[in-house]
Amino acid sequence: MQFPGTPIEVARVFSDLDVATKFFAKIRWPLGVRCQHCGSERVLYIPTRCTCECLEKHTRRQFSIKVGTILKIASCQSINAL
Ligand SMILES: [Zn+2]
Repeated sequence: MQFPGTPIEVARVFSDLDVATKFFAKIRWPLGVRCQHCGSERVLYIPTRCTCECLEKHTRRQFSIKVGTILKIASCQSINAL
């Protein structure tokens, strides 16, 4: 993963919500996304809802990549505007 180095590169990376979400997920979980509740690696990303869903059987299977971060209070569109 390469970090954007110039304002133009930042604008290019973060102008697409899906690309920005995957970029943030790579920073947060460099070894792959893990469930916030059980730690399982069996997680699906749902791009239409900006959420991840754990494939294990437990409650609260869906979680945002922003959970537990300062970005939790921001909407998907706000992240996209970065
Ligand atoms: Zn889980």
